[in-house]
Order: sequence, then structure tokens, then C-alpha cells
Amino acid sequence: MRVFKFGGASVKDAEGVKNLVKVLNETGHEDMLIVVSAMGKTTNTLERVIQNYFDNYSEFKNSLQEIHTSHNEILSQLFKTESHPIFSKINNLFIELTTFFSSNKSPDYNFVYDQVVGFGELISTLIISAYLNEIGIKNQWLDIREFIKTDNYYRNAKVNWKATQALISKQIKTNTLNITQGFIASDSNNFTTTLGREGSDYTAAILAYCLNANSVTIWKDVPGVLNADPRYFQNPQLLKEISYREAIELAFYGASVIHPKTLQPLQQKEIPFFVKSFLNPKEDGTCIGKSKKIDPLIPCFIVKKNQVLIELSSLDFSFMLEENISEIFQLLHLYKMKVDVIQNSAISFSVCIENNYNNLNKLVLHLKAKFKVICNTNVDLYTIRHYNDNAITQLEEQKTILLKQIHNETVQIVTK
Ligand code: ASP
Ligand code: MG
Repeated sequence: MRVFKFGGASVKDAEGVKNLVKVLNETGHEDMLIVVSAMGKTTNTLERVIQNYFDNYSEFKNSLQEIHTSHNEILSQLFKTESHPIFSKINNLFIELTTFFSSNKSPDYNFVYDQVVGFGELISTLIISAYLNEIGIKNQWLDIREFIKTDNYYRNAKVNWKATQALISKQIKTNTLNITQGFIASDSNNFTTTLGREGSDYTAAILAYCLNANSVTIWKDVPGVLNADPRYFQNPQLLKEISYREAIELAFYGASVIHPKTLQPLQQKEIPFFVKSFLNPKEDGTCIGKSKKIDPLIPCFIVKKNQVLIELSSLDFSFMLEENISEIFQLLHLYKMKVDVIQNSAISFSVCIENNYNNLNKLVLHLKAKFKVICNTNVDLYTIRHYNDNAITQLEEQKTILLKQIHNETVQIVTK
């Protein structure tokens, strides 16, 4: 059996849903499990709803209504009559969501977030499943929360592989077409959890692993994995083949086309992973798999915008040694900073970090009590895998270089 995953961009409107059907008709859809994300930017809007619920209640209703309206529009373009049961099914989900908000007593932002944000996936999969059934592609809708079990670390829950494997092997039929949600799961109390933003690829990988799938295909708005992000680099080239190891490295350094957690389960069972364009489903795209080499072997550019470079030195001219460095790392962990690059010399220690949780001011204040601190915000971190001189020169052109580090086949450059 095969696992397909369609992301939010592929089903952003009624046209997108119809295009999904076109893809299925071209690829066939026997013995298949399809994972679907929330439509378009729904997850971002739901994040806004949650923010408003906590901090800006006057906007709360409007933001929720925005989501309801946009889905109603898609529904009315896909189904001829409003008497189709899907209309009341979707309406009921919105009632369920409103009821959750009005009865919720938990002040825990992360808990509330997870109970709410996955409605985007529930809605999109119900619509798509109903539409496919309507046009004669018979399928089974599954609530993935009944199969993927996690701990209760809300917003970035960790999979309980044993429980998940048992539920999936026992209850998911592979000789049929199944449609289900990415991103969400549930904890041991059956509360909804999420696997982290953009986590639907990971869901596809979990299912493929537990079902021993023949392949996983992620349908994107790009032709496959490119050697550079087209938003920031001109003339990106398609990578036709990559090894699991290379793909894991690219994802680790921030290549946004692959979710970092996705590859390890697939590598373990050597399940081939394809990244293809939903606009040109017949094209090969990229294949990530066993005994593949990177082809073509060209420099790969990854950029992370808006990072922070912190340079630390001791206040008393003492060396930056184990003791200081371990203290710095404790603080980085405390303030949930994601560390991208570190570099140290005898008297200074630099770290390039991602300030995802808005804790930078607190961190700097804390560090200043112990160290001399220079903090550069809004810097860009470039990584080049398989670099050559030409690639570095091209990248450094017209930029101020704040830090540069070369190891094996990788160079990392922090610029302003
Ligand atoms: N809808 C979720 C998100 O946008 C999950 C996903 O798309 O992978 O983060
Ligand atoms: Mg999404």
C-alpha cells in the first residue's frame, strides 16, 4: 500500500480539492492511505483565534467566523445542494469548537491550543472524504486520534510508538482507500495533542512505518526537493535523488520542504519517500531512499532568516571554559532557544539561535549578569552543503559576514 500526503497549499480552495482528484486519477488510488493538512492558511487563522481567546476577546468571534465562512464557500463550490449531510457535519464541528471555548476552564495555553488547532484538519478531511465519495471514489474517513498516541507535551507531543503500532496494525485496513488527518494525535486521556507545526509529513511517516507501506509521497507546490529555496535564491535546481542521510542533514539545517522528524522512521524500514508536484503529478520529482546518492551533486543552499547571534565573553578576562559554557547552555534550554551554530575561542563564545518563544530579552538580561554580551538580532544564517569556492563567493557578495564555520561538506555563514 502507498501513503500520500497533501499539504494545506494543495487543498487551499475548491480548485485544489478537484486537483487532488486529478492527481488520484493519474496515480491510481487502490490500497492507499491519504493524509491531509488543514486547507490553505487555516492553521494560522486558528492560531489567531486561540490568541484572541486569551488576549483579545473582542476579535475572537470574528476570527472564528472567518474560518467558518471560508470553508462554507469551499463547500458550496464542491456540493450542489445544501441538503448534503456534509453541511451539517461541518456545522456540528463549529458548534463543538464553540462549546469547547465556552466551557473551557483550563488556563494552559498549550493545552487549549491543541484542543483547537486540529479542527482545521478535521474539517478538511471530512470535506475531502465526502467529496470523493460523492464523485464515486469510495473511501473511509478515519479519526487519526484513535490511532496515534502520544504523551501530553502539548504542541510538540512525543509519539508512543508501541501503543500506536498496536492500534494501527489492529484496526487500519490497508486494502482500501483511507483518508485521515495529519498533525494531530491524542494522549492517554484522549485529549488531542499535536506533533508540532508542519507535522503532517511526520504523520504520513508514522503511518507508513506502522503499516509497512511501499512508499510515501508528499505532494507539494514545488517540483520536488530543490537545491535552494526559490523564495530566496534564483534558479534553484531539482535534486532527483537523495539519500536518507543527506535529506536528514538538509532538514536539520532548515530546508523547509521536509519536516525533520519525518525521515527517521522511513529510513528504519527503508521505505522510499517521494516529493512531487501536485501540478505535474506525472513528473518524477525527488526520490529519497536507500543507496541513493545526491544527484546531481551540486551545492545546496539553506537559509534561516531572522536569527539571533549572541557573542559572549567573560567580564574578568578569564577563559570561556566548560563551566561557563555549561551555564550558557542551561540558560538557552531554560528559555527554549533553538541553537543553530556555536563557535568558541579562548575568550569568547558565540551562538546563533532561533528565538521562537519570544524569550530573548529575558535570556540576555540573565546572561548580562555573568558575561559581556553582544547581541545581534535579525541576522541570517546560511548553510551550504557540498559547498565550493564559487558557491561561497556568490553567497557572501554584498553581505557583512559575522561568523563562518566549515566542517566536512558543510559551511555555515551568519550574515547581516
Ligand atoms: N496544518 C498544520 C500546520 O500548518 C500541519 C501541517 O500542515 O503539516 O502546521
Ligand atoms: Mg498546514
